[in-house]
Amino acid sequence: SELWQNVPLAPPDSIFKLTAAFKADTFDKKVNLGVGAYRDDNDKPWVLPVVKKAESIILNTPALDHEYLPITGLPEFTSAAAKLLLGPDSRVLAEGRVTTVQTISGTGANHLGALFLSRFYQWTGDKEVYLSDPTWANHPAIFKNVGIIPVSYPYYDPKTIGLNFDGFLSSLKSAPEGSVFLLHACAHNPTGVDPTKEQWNVIAQAMLEKGHYGFFDTAYQGFASGDLDNDAWAIRFFVDKGVKMLICQSFAKNAGLYGERVGALHVVSPSKEAAERVKSQLSVLQRSEISNPPTYGARIVTLILNDAELFSEWKRDISTMAGRIIDMRKELYKLLTEELHTPGNWDHIVNQIGMFSFTGITPEQSKALTEKAHIYLTVNGRISMTGLNRNNIRYFATSLDAAVR
Ligand code: PLP
Repeated sequence: SELWQNVPLAPPDSIFKLTAAFKADTFDKKVNLGVGAYRDDNDKPWVLPVVKKAESIILNTPALDHEYLPITGLPEFTSAAAKLLLGPDSRVLAEGRVTTVQTISGTGANHLGALFLSRFYQWTGDKEVYLSDPTWANHPAIFKNVGIIPVSYPYYDPKTIGLNFDGFLSSLKSAPEGSVFLLHACAHNPTGVDPTKEQWNVIAQAMLEKGHYGFFDTAYQGFASGDLDNDAWAIRFFVDKGVKMLICQSFAKNAGLYGERVGALHVVSPSKEAAERVKSQLSVLQRSEISNPPTYGARIVTLILNDAELFSEWKRDISTMAGRIIDMRKELYKLLTEELHTPGNWDHIVNQIGMFSFTGITPEQSKALTEKAHIYLTVNGRISMTGLNRNNIRYFATSLDAAVR
């Protein structure tokens, strides 16, 4: 038979398909609420002012060359990234128990973490990972690629448009000992629903009791509350409690460096000596996959993290982004409840956190929004809050109101 006859045509990625449909639409009031990247109040991508500064420093540093980085990445980047995540006073960092490897953004960190577990985790039964239902659409594929079977744990409760905490907890309790649980550190994608501190505490206890392994994914540090430390709370808490874990970190959203692919994988080990062995094997894996990570984005982030003035400026930029998202949540809530008296409860709009919000609307209502109002969102009713701005929020609110009546 002809070559590639056995290759079935795959469907296009749903998010990228949505963007294409949005671009092709000629309606002047069209709105794109599918995009997972920050937009300013004029619906434009935003290059963080601190990033521009760091870039001009790089441009004016003639001594910088284009050599390969070490296999595990730029050392000044990996150490600063670990400190940002685990805190300046982190005990595990002081004890040398953390292995950090620079990765191809958060996706690459997820992949390398999954690959490492696939090879080296002390599996007792099938290679399985517990993923929240729902989760970031890429998670199942990333694990399947390395031979780990995704299974799901209850997370979102459509009745409350909030957390199904009891379901989550009973899944933690009934899973075989030493199971791997993927946890979104903050600003859960796609629901915007996070556990409270009290709930995190209960989750940590359950994980300790069952010896579960925490696969933390943090793509939104700073982006949720506007505060970097606040958004790292769950991770630091779990580390302190001694939950076995690794963390996947992305700088795509909080530094607005989507295309530069800056991220890191952090594996916490029981001893410094174990951390060194882990590092040696991560180096072997990384070498065969990408040889060494890219330089440019890591240089930008390194400058920002290691210079007090740039770091403060970055924090201001982060609170600009998070603040605008929070303002849009408040404004949308106000329009729906006070002005339009839209049927139903909309508290979740302000209770949810981060870039995304699960509106709780049905797939039919979601499709109607796209077909009738030219508002593009995923059929599960998820909206990207950053797609809303002063110019389109009223149009969106009235269209949503019409769709649910
Ligand atoms: N993890 C989650 C939950 C995400 O939402 C994303 C981005 O949307 C990522 C990881 C990784 O993104 P990137 O590879 O661009 O850093």
